[in-house]
Amino acid sequence: MTWLRKAKEGLKAQQRRRELPDGLWTKCEDCGEILYHKELERNLWTCSKCSYHFRISARSYIKILVDEDTFVERFSEVVSTDPLKFRDAKRYSDRLKKAREETGLSEAVLCGEGRIEGHPCVLAIMDFAFLGGSLASAAGERIARSILLAIETRHPLLILSSSGGARMFEGILSLMQMAKANALLARLSDAGVPYISIMTHPTTGGVTASFASVGDVILAEPKALIGFAGPRVIKQTINQELPEGFQRSEFLLQKGMIDRIVHRTELKKTIAWLLRFFAAGAALPQKPRRRAGESLARFRAASLPIGTALPPAPPTPVAEPAAAGTTEIEVPEPSPNGTATGSAPVSPAKTPAPAQPAKAPAPAQPAKTPAPAPSAKAPTKSSAKPPARPTVREVRVEE
Ligand SMILES: [Zn+2]
Repeated sequence: MTWLRKAKEGLKAQQRRRELPDGLWTKCEDCGEILYHKELERNLWTCSKCSYHFRISARSYIKILVDEDTFVERFSEVVSTDPLKFRDAKRYSDRLKKAREETGLSEAVLCGEGRIEGHPCVLAIMDFAFLGGSLASAAGERIARSILLAIETRHPLLILSSSGGARMFEGILSLMQMAKANALLARLSDAGVPYISIMTHPTTGGVTASFASVGDVILAEPKALIGFAGPRVIKQTINQELPEGFQRSEFLLQKGMIDRIVHRTELKKTIAWLLRFFAAGAALPQKPRRRAGESLARFRAASLPIGTALPPAPPTPVAEPAAAGTTEIEVPEPSPNGTATGSAPVSPAKTPAPAQPAKAPAPAQPAKTPAPAPSAKAPTKSSAKPPARPTVREVRVEE
């Protein structure tokens, strides 16, 4: 029997020698395929054989998603201090310093404004390489400010999550960010500004439990681990075998927690389609808007395999006098007390809309202050009636 074992070991050693990439080749972490570096880069760091998605940095996502030279970073001045003077094996302040040096970021989330296929939007992109993409006071504050910026500019918000959860080095201050972000997202929702959440591998803990799960549309990368507690903890707690593919995006798509799984090479196209959809839906008068809702329902049906062409975007409105190029369309929108102010978020749709019965005219909100919103209701997923949401006062429609 010994000679058998020896032969096996010999084979392994040979394999290992063949795997040495020397910077030109990278081994797929899932299927073991050896991938040529340039090709991997062309495929946006996804395996051409099994479509495994390699983890990439926040800046790489900016490169992939945002039109060239349109990204402007914001809120980089908000950085973590060490409020608890926390120390375990290492000082928290030292960990922060190291993470900053290694990633070139000052926090676990990179925020800013940019355009995606010409559509302006506000972005917040998390980076797992920075202390596990953990959510702490500064990261939470950056996200909060991004949401406020989206309300102010009325540009759609995009949050790309990649996180191990709340950062324990800041204790309860980290946990508070969950409530803060969601309270502001409720305001964003009241203002009728769309929010697209993108979950990447992994999105866990406090991030899943707060802002990542409440997008108007929730996208996820294939095979991403998405959950609150990890599978091992759950297995020990409930003392049962977990189903196949538990907590992976494919499983969550089946259960209705996410709307669509999007391959990274399709991500920009898909987001651009959604931005076009929201812009057109907001600009259309009541009736055709329902038609726009139907195509979002088809989008949500999502049984289509990855790479299938999306349903066509709703037609751009022709009701208003449309000139060539960029047209601006005013949607009449009487506010509850007759004061239709400029940028203040006004609760949507006061026009006779049979679609939404119980929506009481919300009092115009003070817009700026980052105090917790009075109504603690989390923004529910608008899957029931997406067309009623976006009522934007002034929408730019391309073409
Ligand atoms: Zn692979």
